Amino acid sequence: MDWYNPQDIEIPNGHFINGELRTFDDDTLSEVCCPSSGKPYASLPCASENTVDFVINSTKQAFTETDWATMAPRDRADYLFKWASLVENDREYLAQLESLGSSRPYHEVLQWDIPYVVDCLKFFAELADKHGGYIGATQQNRLGMVINQPYGVVGAITPWNFPMSMLIWKVGPALAAGNAVVLKPSELTPFSSNHLARLACDAGIPKNIFNVVQGLGHTVGQAICEHPSIGKVTFTGSTATGAAIMSTCALKGPKPSTLELGGKSPQIVFNDADLDKTATIVAKAITGNAGQVCVSGSRLIIHESIEKQFTQQLVEYFSQLKMGATWDKETTLPPIISARQADRIESIVSQSIADGAELICGGKKVLEGGTFYTPTILKMNKADNCAITSEIFGPVLTVQTFQTDEEAWNLASHETYGLAVGIHTNDIKRALTGMRKVEAGSVWINRYGRSFDHIMPTGGFKQSGIGKDIGVEAFQANLHSKSVLIDF
Ligand code: NDP
Repeated sequence: MDWYNPQDIEIPNGHFINGELRTFDDDTLSEVCCPSSGKPYASLPCASENTVDFVINSTKQAFTETDWATMAPRDRADYLFKWASLVENDREYLAQLESLGSSRPYHEVLQWDIPYVVDCLKFFAELADKHGGYIGATQQNRLGMVINQPYGVVGAITPWNFPMSMLIWKVGPALAAGNAVVLKPSELTPFSSNHLARLACDAGIPKNIFNVVQGLGHTVGQAICEHPSIGKVTFTGSTATGAAIMSTCALKGPKPSTLELGGKSPQIVFNDADLDKTATIVAKAITGNAGQVCVSGSRLIIHESIEKQFTQQLVEYFSQLKMGATWDKETTLPPIISARQADRIESIVSQSIADGAELICGGKKVLEGGTFYTPTILKMNKADNCAITSEIFGPVLTVQTFQTDEEAWNLASHETYGLAVGIHTNDIKRALTGMRKVEAGSVWINRYGRSFDHIMPTGGFKQSGIGKDIGVEAFQANLHSKSVLIDF
């Protein structure tokens, strides 16, 4: 049984600029494939550098000539609230569009992603009029003020794994702070961004204040980072691309950037944890979205006394998952985004086994319509096995055991990444010790994953990123301060 017929969905193809979908004569075409079927379903127009220049200039003009940045912040908040309510009204269409083009199952988008996007947008709308500058201490015949202003045009570049949620992390705080935005979504999942941008216009946000330009990372993404009228870059994606963006910005005129990058997050399980509940949490944290999650809990670090029983529970959980299309009502394990990504998972798993890891379960690429990968557990023989050192971005869990707490903290700290950590224990002292010791931007104790508490910022330590998304920090990162001195 299907939630909807994938043939019936109207695709908002093109760039979304100046309140409408459009294409340009010098666009080149790129096939967009449906991950659930492996078949192309649209030809995406990819912008040239000239088009990127045109779009950024139009956005800059809207920033300067409309009252978006200068209106009463409460009015700006009202537009964003209106936008949130239009997203809610169109939730079924958006969920179909998103699930057709990505690995997100339809019912999960409807029950999780859309409410998350709406709620997150409201959170940033609420912040629009709740900030201010301050008066600096200075001498009696002088006034010193620090005021905050938007950057102008923010360039946003997003990945394919949660297209709408990643968009709102970037666009929500940028617009709330009074910026304009040029967004380049991933070329693999380009279309839900266009519909969200249309709804922003329908909500009354001035045309050209939020534009979407489609295309490839190394052309469109790069051109956004290089452009002198981009005041700030905000990016979510892999660590390698984040590094490329930093270097582009540095070479072409340094500009501030927020970078949310890759992860290899541990889930530490002590023998005093509630093991049945924890097994479900650990299993979901590596199989949700087929492991294609930046904070996927991909490294199980477990007390040696419970390893065998616990991994058996995981194997049982995995065996009940059903691979299938994102629109199939029975699907509990969605496809891998592309054949290329599935090949990459396969190659790292094979290399890991060749390097001495023991395959406990899974380890198979499955071609049934789209490309799937069976949930996999690899028992590690050494800490520098490639399944530990690389971000796999698939349903692959590595297992390492410890005897002492100190060993657990040491195994948890990754040489490269520091995005999140899960600590499962009923000993509060132990949990709080881990909270301080493990180098990660998010610590989850007896749970795993983000919540709707948008006040909690998210971001990485080490090479998992620079700066924060969500939270008040994300809003403030879209403003820069100006010092004003007035002599009487
Ligand atoms: P990529 O880094 O491959 O791509 C991300 C975006 O950057 C895409 O839009 C891509 O375009 C674009 N891009 C590629 N090259 C350049 C370039 N030289 N200059 C500017 N832009 C460029 O990541 P994926 O899309 O594969 O997403 C998965 C990654 O995202 C994982 O590493 C995951 O951990 C990370 N991620 C991190 C999160 C966090 O909060 N820390 C949250 C979600 C994901 P194109 O698609 O056209 O190549």
